Amino acid sequence: MTENYPRLRAELDGIPTYKPGKPAASGGAAGYKLSSNENPYPPLPGVLESVIGAAGAFNRYPDMACTELMTELAEHFGVPAGHLATGTGSVGVAQQLVQATTNAGDEVIYAWRSFEAYPIIVQVAGAQSVRVPLTDGEVHDLDAMLAAITDRTRLIFVCNPNNPTGTIVRRAELERFLDRVPGDVLVVLDEAYREFIRPGAGEADEMPDGIEIYRDRPNVCVLRTFSKAYGLAGLRVGFAVAHEPVAAALRKTAVPFGVSQLAQDAAVASLRSEAALLERVDSLVAERGRVHSALAAQGWTLPEAQANFVWLRLGEQTLDFAAACDRAGVTVRPFAGEGVRITIGETAANDLMLGAAEAFRKEM
Ligand SMILES: *Cc1c(COP(=O)(O)O)cnc(C)c1O
Repeated sequence: MTENYPRLRAELDGIPTYKPGKPAASGGAAGYKLSSNENPYPPLPGVLESVIGAAGAFNRYPDMACTELMTELAEHFGVPAGHLATGTGSVGVAQQLVQATTNAGDEVIYAWRSFEAYPIIVQVAGAQSVRVPLTDGEVHDLDAMLAAITDRTRLIFVCNPNNPTGTIVRRAELERFLDRVPGDVLVVLDEAYREFIRPGAGEADEMPDGIEIYRDRPNVCVLRTFSKAYGLAGLRVGFAVAHEPVAAALRKTAVPFGVSQLAQDAAVASLRSEAALLERVDSLVAERGRVHSALAAQGWTLPEAQANFVWLRLGEQTLDFAAACDRAGVTVRPFAGEGVRITIGETAANDLMLGAAEAFRKEM
């Protein structure tokens, strides 16, 4: 019998599957998950209450225009509501941006290694990925990215801080880059970890903030999310800030009713509880400093860490290191043959990881 399956788009062949971070190990004493850059803190009481309140009405569709959230965001960031668009996580918004800008064969440039969702959403759209290797220092190579622009380039992602290396491009070099990108190419500043950035001595003015940078640049779009610093990863809500034509294109490409009322209400409550949330971010940043120094003291070489994770370029030893962490009760995120991304979590989890790293180092 000949099988008669529906014809599917050839572009779907060979799409890499998104690998979610491994769950915490079950069994054994403690199981901690340091593999998905999640916030280790449980929801703030006020945020949880707002979600529980919204749960009583989930027989109804959510507010499709996210009115209250849009109003809150506009006020919070000092941008016109017409410059905002929300989506099902900032990955959802990133996918809409690719759909809104590319036809088959058009090119999307991004650094590599960077966020693993980029190749997937580009390929699903039928567009072409152009990957520009990071510098030896694990930072975006903006000159090489400029050189990669062709007349088929429609969108460039700049992941800042970069996932999984944790490095940032600083403001002056970012602006120099933006000055040279043609005005008809959309530059997406993916700032999922923006709240974790801390300046070194004397460089406060050099910290990149897309919401300042986009204002006089019609071809820049900033992506932010409630998943990381705000701790709402499971609720799926992110947003973009961009000039009117881009924001309008995002509203056109949105899945109707994509952002649930639970997510909208939690996001509004989070913005209103921002002080308490940012205190938690401060503790994670302090913990990041402790972990980074401890690893350096063990003899590891690692790049600056400006997000809620650290990056170890372990090459061929990547999977062995991840297995050693597993045995110690912490799951980390290996990229086989390249390196390991380790989320900053609870102190106890970080300590278990540091113990495993020290033992691994001695065996190397
Ligand atoms: C986690 C992450 C996001 C956010 O994903 P959501 O869809 O908002 O949960 C976006 N970009 C990067 C680089 C990330 O690491």
